[in-house]
Amino acid sequence: MENVKSEQLFNRAKRRIPGGVNSPVRAFGPVGGHPFFVERAQGPWLFDADGHRYLDYVCSWGPGILGHAHPQVVEAVQRACAGGLTFGAPTAGEVELAELINACVPDVEMVRLVSSGTEAVMSAVRVARGFTGREKIIKFAGNYHGHSDGLLVKAGSGLMTRSEPDSAGVPAGYAADTLTAVYNDGESVRALLEENYGQVAAVVVEPVAANMGVVPPEKGFLEALRRMTKEHGALLLFDEVITGFRLGLGGASAYTGVHADLYTFGKIVGGGMPLAAYGGRRDIMFCVAPLGAVYQAGTLSGNPVAVAAGIATLKILMDDTGIYERIDRRAQTLSEAYRKAGLVVNRAGSLLSAFFMPDRDVCGGETVSGVAGEEQERRKQARQVENYGDACRCDRKAFADYFNRMLAHGIYVAPSPFEAMFVSDAHSDGLIEKTCEAVAACVRGG
Ligand SMILES: *Cc1c(COP(=O)(O)O)cnc(C)c1O
Repeated sequence: MENVKSEQLFNRAKRRIPGGVNSPVRAFGPVGGHPFFVERAQGPWLFDADGHRYLDYVCSWGPGILGHAHPQVVEAVQRACAGGLTFGAPTAGEVELAELINACVPDVEMVRLVSSGTEAVMSAVRVARGFTGREKIIKFAGNYHGHSDGLLVKAGSGLMTRSEPDSAGVPAGYAADTLTAVYNDGESVRALLEENYGQVAAVVVEPVAANMGVVPPEKGFLEALRRMTKEHGALLLFDEVITGFRLGLGGASAYTGVHADLYTFGKIVGGGMPLAAYGGRRDIMFCVAPLGAVYQAGTLSGNPVAVAAGIATLKILMDDTGIYERIDRRAQTLSEAYRKAGLVVNRAGSLLSAFFMPDRDVCGGETVSGVAGEEQERRKQARQVENYGDACRCDRKAFADYFNRMLAHGIYVAPSPFEAMFVSDAHSDGLIEKTCEAVAACVRGG
């Protein structure tokens, strides 16, 4: 494929923008090669600077649940633009969006609008600390909550007892207040809560994890978090920046039946514009300035153009009751194609990930036939992805090969093995069928 223009743009970009991109994963690091530069997008398609068309399963990493440039959303944005881009004063739209969020997720009794998911989680954590008067938080290895200092923390070598910054420039002191537990392992949380008795403000979790690939919560895991946080006087914070309005209108709390104290939203809630939100229990949100002592503000918060995109998107999702059934069914069809191709698939609603897990036969260097029952079981386990450790065992080279073959077939999946595949309402049954055929060819190396 000719990629002359994208290559030229990338070379120019690298001279003025670190790595040539404004967010690292866009640089195609894990899959090699150069990123294509997008010229425009419509429905399920991306069109690049060299005139290629790609079927897009990244959907801007989540916002694009309706496909690109949905006419009603675009019209709402254009109308808002014509009335002024930003005022720094309240508007009716902000009230309407807050009411719509509450209508979809009743646990969110009060809500603040901000401009990015990072800002939403950072602010919600501050509120949790302000409300409880405690300083520590617990997060999970492999969950992503944006790039604020206190949340860019990974489990250190002494897993669960020591945390290290996951980025240069994050002071060790920040990391020290962020404790890291193991996803789907309630006991790891209990241990941290007990070791840090009376000091934990919140447990922050992706209720369905989607930033180490998709990893759904095992039965009982979120319930255990709910129970333990209550027992310990800590708040439960569901980071629904991906799952909000994705797993259904009610997000993960409706999907799993477990209810948090605080929630964060982003991606879909902004309809493709820079908008995110945090909210939850009224008594907790009363801590936020100007009502309370927790300061949080934003020049562009509740931006009228972004709000218009959010309202238009949520209204479409609320009016067209068939959307979630359609995208979930299509994601299931894709899941089956990946499974048939021999991959390990995790799916929740229209979010899915296919993991290139080491072959059972290869794992351990001996064939499965002839190993004892217990060992058989361990190896079967090895082909499930339930936490970050599991996800990290995937075959990155095999993924990169598959990614590049898919791209050559005109299909764009996330350029990293640790990202979800997003199905939008613009992915028709016919396109899903074509994708399944491509999967069969590309996983096997066709
Ligand atoms: C994307 C994401 C964020 C960060 O949102 P940005 O808008 O990229 O800052 C936070 N939490 C989760 C779960 C996310 O997926």
